[in-house]
Amino acid sequence: MFFDPPKSRWRRRVGPVLGWVVALACATLPPADASGKPPRVVATTTIVADLVRQVGGDRVAVDCLMAPGIDPHSYKATPRDADRLARAELVVASGLHLEGKLADLLAKLGRRVRVLAVADALPADKLLDAGAGVHDPHVWFDAALWSGCVPPVVETLSALDPDGTADYRASGTAYVERLLALDAEMRERLAAIPRERRVLVTAHDAFRYFGRAYDVEVVGVQGTSTEAEAGLGDVNRLVDLVVTRNIPAVFVETSVSDRNVAALREGAAARGHAMAIGGRLHSDSIGGPQGGAATLEGAIRENVEAIVAGLSGEGGGVDGAAP
Ligand code: ZN
Repeated sequence: MFFDPPKSRWRRRVGPVLGWVVALACATLPPADASGKPPRVVATTTIVADLVRQVGGDRVAVDCLMAPGIDPHSYKATPRDADRLARAELVVASGLHLEGKLADLLAKLGRRVRVLAVADALPADKLLDAGAGVHDPHVWFDAALWSGCVPPVVETLSALDPDGTADYRASGTAYVERLLALDAEMRERLAAIPRERRVLVTAHDAFRYFGRAYDVEVVGVQGTSTEAEAGLGDVNRLVDLVVTRNIPAVFVETSVSDRNVAALREGAAARGHAMAIGGRLHSDSIGGPQGGAATLEGAIRENVEAIVAGLSGEGGGVDGAAP
């Protein structure tokens, strides 16, 4: 049993992990349920739910624990969630400590229900350090890296529902191909921003993988988790940066409070540098009642459009004040 994703860059960037991910998935899963019903999957975040839907299609019923716009770092399970999780045949989490407050529950659950933390399967040498011995969990905005989370989903769904194996493999292969094409497309779009202006200032550090993949300097007002408070020193340091580099826009996020971004803009304005809000980026959540992308592919495209417009100065609202 082996999922065969498209060759080329995926193999170069993520390839070595595949063998042991498959081995691990096959070794730890109990025998599949042959009831013929669609596997009941609970995903933790909207982004992980999208991943499972892309691979599972109509064969899989995906229930997403967190609603759009919810911050996964601080999310605590409700009694109803515990019930939803307990009835699942498979729980898919993002992993790498993204769902910090769910860790104990997921660990406990793992003794009875299959739990797959997709990003935990990525090779450690592709991950960014977030300090304190943990990796940065925000891997999804590097589309090529995220494509490495597809094979574990294909293998796990196939083990749960063997009749669907051919479908899962075909959808998984097509999805990896689309993510790699998106990766190339985004690299080209972002390269159009002059290098000195290619600085993404956001509310929290959700875009470090994005920055590494697409050559964008990334600065978060808050740390890698929204659980950390931004200090006055952090804000002052950032004010210096945006004023001296004449950065035209700062970005807010759909799942994070705007308070820190507001403090940064006020600090810059006090020094005669007006910064536009370059747009509201999808960070740890996609979809939602206010419209916006329901898939990660759509969210990445919307983000990149906003970043290109904001940093090229096309977004308006910048008075051109120089330091
Ligand atoms: Zn985050």
